[in-house]
Amino acid sequence: MTDERKTELQRNLDEVNARVAAACAAAHRVRADVRVLAVTKTFPASDIDLLAELGFTDVGESRDQEARLKKAEVKAFLRWHMIGQVQRKKAKQVAHWADLVEGVDRADLADALQLGAQSAEKNLEVLIQVSLDPDGTQNRGGVDRGQVVALAEHILALSHLTLAGVMAVAPLGGDPEAAFELLARAHERLLGVAPGAQMVSAGMSGDLEAAIIHGATQVRIGGALLGNRPPLT
Ligand SMILES: *Cc1c(COP(=O)(O)O)cnc(C)c1O
Repeated sequence: MTDERKTELQRNLDEVNARVAAACAAAHRVRADVRVLAVTKTFPASDIDLLAELGFTDVGESRDQEARLKKAEVKAFLRWHMIGQVQRKKAKQVAHWADLVEGVDRADLADALQLGAQSAEKNLEVLIQVSLDPDGTQNRGGVDRGQVVALAEHILALSHLTLAGVMAVAPLGGDPEAAFELLARAHERLLGVAPGAQMVSAGMSGDLEAAIIHGATQVRIGGALLGNRPPLT
């Protein structure tokens, strides 16, 4: 069973790697500059251990409780990314299990994560989630592009947070290339105040090529790697 699953994951990984390599070649980018984050939400801890055996160093989870339970079960040493929306009241818990929180889109959430990181006596990496939705239709989360620098300045002043870059989700039904180009421009402005914030987390199973063309340094892959998942409730 485990062997079969491992073979299946390896086959999926080979396909994902081939897509990433082709996209890097098309964009004249170095393959080593794009990391694949395995998005393991809804999949069991045993899959995470298999992914670690296949060479993964980082996994992404979107729900606090699920992530905590799985992290306690997983044997491998990995870096855990929180990729879902974080409620302020959950920030302290998230700061304990996560190494990197993708998706900070407001100052009060940054403050809450700072308190959590302080109490956990650790440094927490964070990405600013940038909204790529047309103005006024905020459905996939994120700070407005015009507010990225102000939020960055707020985060830079917090002792236990390290601003590592930006993250975004392309709008549903829109042109992902146009959206990721907006992200690249927001990232450029961010680098003006935070030159260390090099990470661009963008692209999922369906649009990783568009993200890589526009500078993604990390793609977040769930379905293409692990298979179909039941819808989140
Ligand atoms: C679930 C999820 C992904 C992975 O999506 P797939 O389409 O399964 O690759 C990536 N990013 C975020 C924020 C997610 O919630």
